[in-house]
This record gives sequence, C-alpha cells and structure tokens, in this order.
Amino acid sequence: CGVFGVFGHPDAANLAYYGLHALQHRGEESCGICTSDDGKFHFHRGMGLVKEVFDRDKLESLTGAQAIGHVRYSTSGASQLGNAQPLVFKYRGGDLAVCTNGNLVNEPGIRKELEETGSIFQTTSDTEVIAHLIARSPKDIVEAVKDAFARLIGGYAFLIQTQGMLIAACDPHGLRPLVMGRLGNAYIFASESCALETIGAEYERDVQPGELLVLDKDGLREERFAPMERRAICAMEYIYFARPDSDIYGVNLHMSRKRMGQTLAQESFVDADIVTGVPDSSISAAIGYAEQTGIPYELGLIKNKYTGRTFIQPSQELREKGVKMKLSAVRKIVEGKRVVMIDDSIVRGTTSLRIVNLLREAGALEVHVRITSPPFMNPCYYGIDTPNPADLIASSKTVEEIRQAINADSLYFLSERGLIDSVGGHDNEKNRGLCLACFNNDYPTQVRFEDAKLTSCS
Ligand code: 5GP
Ligand code: SF4
Ligand code: MG
Repeated sequence: CGVFGVFGHPDAANLAYYGLHALQHRGEESCGICTSDDGKFHFHRGMGLVKEVFDRDKLESLTGAQAIGHVRYSTSGASQLGNAQPLVFKYRGGDLAVCTNGNLVNEPGIRKELEETGSIFQTTSDTEVIAHLIARSPKDIVEAVKDAFARLIGGYAFLIQTQGMLIAACDPHGLRPLVMGRLGNAYIFASESCALETIGAEYERDVQPGELLVLDKDGLREERFAPMERRAICAMEYIYFARPDSDIYGVNLHMSRKRMGQTLAQESFVDADIVTGVPDSSISAAIGYAEQTGIPYELGLIKNKYTGRTFIQPSQELREKGVKMKLSAVRKIVEGKRVVMIDDSIVRGTTSLRIVNLLREAGALEVHVRITSPPFMNPCYYGIDTPNPADLIASSKTVEEIRQAINADSLYFLSERGLIDSVGGHDNEKNRGLCLACFNNDYPTQVRFEDAKLTSCS
C-alpha cells in the first residue's frame, strides 16, 4: 500500500490526489483521501484507481489545509469498500482518521483482547485496531498514539489525522518506507519520494525507525514511541516494489537495481547475444548486467501499459491461440539469439515459465534466467503480499529443479551478500540495514504467534 499526507497547504486534497497517483503502483484496489477543514472532516473513498475514484467535483468538496490519503494493494484478504482507507472514527467530540502501509503480526491477539473487553469492530483491518487502542486511552492524543504503537509488532508506516494535527510514524525496524518533504511552508509525507517529486516538494528526510512526528499549529515535533531496534528495511522495496525514481534512505532505486544487475554479471556471467529485462521492474538491472558484461541490452520484451484490473481476460481458447495480455516478446530482436533474461524474483514460478516460453516461441535459441534476488523461501509478515508458503517454488525445489520448471537453459539467483552490497545501505549494521527474512528466515521481529497474521497492507 501507499500513504500520503499534507499539513499546512490550502490545496491539500489536490496535492494528495497527485501524490497518490504517483504511488499508484503500490496499490490499485482502492483509494481514499480525508481532509480536515476548520474542525470538520471531509472524505471520499472508492474501489479502483485514483484517477477513477476522484473527479474535479469530489476533490473540490474535500476542503482544508491538511489531508491524509491511501492506495490499497489487493491481497488475498477481503477486497471490499469497507477496507478502503483512510478509516475515519469519532473521537472525543471530534474525528480521527488513520491510514497505514504494512502489517501487524500481533493484530489478532490485540483484536481479541479488545473484543473481549467490549470493542466492536466494523472492518478486518489493522488500522481499526489502532484506532480502538487510541480511543481507549485516557491520555492526550500524542501519548495515546505512542502507547498504542508501543504494543504493535510488525512492519508499518502510519499517518493519523485529527482536527489540527497530523502524526506520522514508522515501526521500530523501519521495515516500511516513509519520507517527509516540504512544499513551501507545508509538510508532506509519502511512502516514496517519487510522490514528492511529482508535486514539486523537496525531500527532507526519511522518517526513522520508531520515530513519531507530530505536526500541529506549533509546527513540527520530533518524538519517538520506541527506541530504534535493528534497522531492517524491506529488501523487496529495493528489488521490485518501489518506483525506480524513488530514493529510500538516500539510495536511488534505479541505481541500486543497476548495481544488482552488475553484481549478477560478476557472480554468473554467461556468454550470450543480448540481455533483456522483464518490464518494468527489471529494466534497470538488465542495463546493469549489460554494462558489466558488454553484451548489448535490448528491448526483447514489451509490456502493454493498459492491462487493467478490470480487463476481460482472454478465454482458454484465445490464450492457446497466443493472445497475450501483458507481455510480448519482440521477434525481430530475439529470433536466433542467445538471450539473458533478467527478472527481479521468482515467487510461484508461473510468470517466469510463461516469459521463458514467450522468448522461445519468438525464436530465442537459448534463454538464461538471472534473478536479482536470492530464492524467495519464506512468507512475509510485514505487508508484502506473498502466497501460501507451500506455493513458494523455492521452498520445496532446488535451483536446478526450478530451472527445469521454468524451462530455462540456465538459472542463477543473486547471492545475499551481492544483494546487500548492491543496495549499499547502512555500513556497520546487520545486513547493512536490510530485512532479508523471506530469503533467509531471519525475521527482525517475533513472528511465531499462535495466531500470527499473514496478510498485506491491512
Ligand atoms: P511468479 O514467479 O510468482 O510467477 O512471478 C514473479 C513475478 O511477480 C516477478 O516478475 C515480480 O515482478 C512479481 N512479483 C515479485 N514479488 C511479488 C510479490 O510479492 N507479489 C506479487 N504480486 N508479485 C510479485
Ligand atoms: Fe520485505 Fe521480505 Fe522482509 Fe517481507 S520478509 S519485509 S518482503 S524483505
Ligand atoms: Mg516482474
């Protein structure tokens, strides 16, 4: 999911609209914006893309100088309007709006405890649990939020709004990204820095692990609800999730993916005629692999930009005739060639098999698959959608067995060390500040609860 917040700008709703549009790749299922204007909240939420859910009239009705907004990723969980965010609650004679990116591992336990002591829940979302924790505290809002966060275990970035106040917070490991920027005197928060760029705001800094930033009429207060624990920024953000024009903790995504491609080339050179990347996320890495080896980079695969969620899928018969919705191989480029195909990850293995076969059908002589991540073996508890562990191909198959399953001539996964050094994050920290749990089973938090939750983005 993606979150976006504005504090202190008369065009808050419009800025949120453009900011969320820039974060659309982080979630296409639903979206929403909530503004606060002179003691009153205005909000709108809907299923679909930002540009489908909002129009001129709706945005004009969202008046006020502060806003929080959300784009939601479709998960295995319930896909319904009720789960669209921000969620808005009555709170001490006013209102409270909350949105989040991430996942709370211990949410079921907290929910159960709250239910047993009288809370009634309307959604299945983590976000509502937070609101209940806040509402039950007798303390002032900032202290109540701190107490609530101190109980959470997981990976998350939160934006919370009341009349006249905006609070931003990030989990104690920094698993999910959140940046702060400035637009004139206004403060902007976004899951990724590309959204700051889009609205002409200047990047100021990343929200730090365990930090809680409070904005109100007195300006910015930098507080904490927890000490920073081992920093563990999600490696998948760098590998495939975030946009190439974003920076996370000062590391540009395109450049780090390029380095992953270069490192792959050093670790597993293969003699070939062209290098191609699976669009969009692996283009950067393919350029890096090509640069390092001297093998020319080519556009061997093209992605159709218009493959929407609501598109009618071709029938089995049309599929067999070769109707391809999303990706096409460029015959004139791959025919008669030995191709190195770079992709970011193999999760189930079904996509990789399809793409290798596309290249073969278009006449590729050999297809050598190079992946810019280690084998994906363990589920994510922190908000990246992953299938049932049994469906993770690398959890039950060796690299050689995966190579056969995806019909490749050769297959290589980037080493953990290669990945860590390609991102090149924080020196002197474990894994240089990355979470690699889905590759190496080393989770930065406790995850083995009786009822640990495995969904994404609440
Ligand atoms: P698979 O091997 O699961 O069939 O497909 C892997 C492809 O899915 C990769 O090209 C990658 O871009 C994309 N992908 C990687 N990780 C994830 C993830 O966590 N969730 C989803 N939905 N797609 C992913
Ligand atoms: Fe990211 Fe993997 Fe860690 Fe989940 S387990 S936060 S996908 S690195
Ligand atoms: Mg991909």
